[in-house]
Amino acid sequence: MHTGQQLYEGKAKVVFATPDPHVLVQSFKDDATAFNGQKKGSIPGKGSVNCRVSAALFRLLEANGVQTHFLRLLSDRDMLMRAVRIVPLEVVVRNRVAGSLAKRLGRPEGEAIPAGPVVELYYKDDSLGDPLVNESHVLAFGLADREALDAITALAHRVNAVLVPFFRGIGLDLVDFKLEFGRSLADGALLLADEISPDTCRLWDLATGERMDKDRFRRDLGGVEDAYQEVVGRVLAAAGSVE
Ligand code: 5GP
Repeated sequence: MHTGQQLYEGKAKVVFATPDPHVLVQSFKDDATAFNGQKKGSIPGKGSVNCRVSAALFRLLEANGVQTHFLRLLSDRDMLMRAVRIVPLEVVVRNRVAGSLAKRLGRPEGEAIPAGPVVELYYKDDSLGDPLVNESHVLAFGLADREALDAITALAHRVNAVLVPFFRGIGLDLVDFKLEFGRSLADGALLLADEISPDTCRLWDLATGERMDKDRFRRDLGGVEDAYQEVVGRVLAAAGSVE
């Protein structure tokens, strides 16, 4: 499948070149890490789930006016994507208190955020553990300029406005999620990049309250594979499978 040179290997994905310098292959692995690589494991089938969920959600977002790097699926764990230069920010959107926000502000997990969503920015740097930054840091250190920051914030809200009702329709509460953006190497357009999957979202079952995401792995809750399979089943049933 991968005839091109391997350009990059991350914790959950590998990127390969294609004959077109503006097009790459993103290949999803079953490897799982948490807590900045301190916890390591493997979730059988995860790469396939995350690839197919990401493809379906990128298609849905494109249909709702959000430009993404996604071009098409090559297999159940490989997607063709536009080459981008990643903006070194992780953009987290939160509809409910959970995870690091619960710890940082001493609030209970699950608490509603009535005037939300909250959008947070983290500096994407593994060696520093992706520290929280504010707009002033981003502008002062040139991580993004004002125009890009405003566009990224607006896109994060738009993505949330599309995904919350989509997930509600399949019985899942979109508690929070992480996005990454990049500049197209071909034309400089700002594109939604990386992945949107149970690895990068908190998804709580609306009927049972069960966590259907990577927190099952992070917190040793068991049933990780089943939760991932349940999510991909519901997403594809609602969004249709993606070619
Ligand atoms: P928290 O800051 O509470 O740990 O994470 C907030 C949300 O962003 C969660 O849905 C989490 O899955 C996602 N997230 C934040 N940083 C990362 C990251 O480095 N990797 C992954 N896979 N997800 C992240």
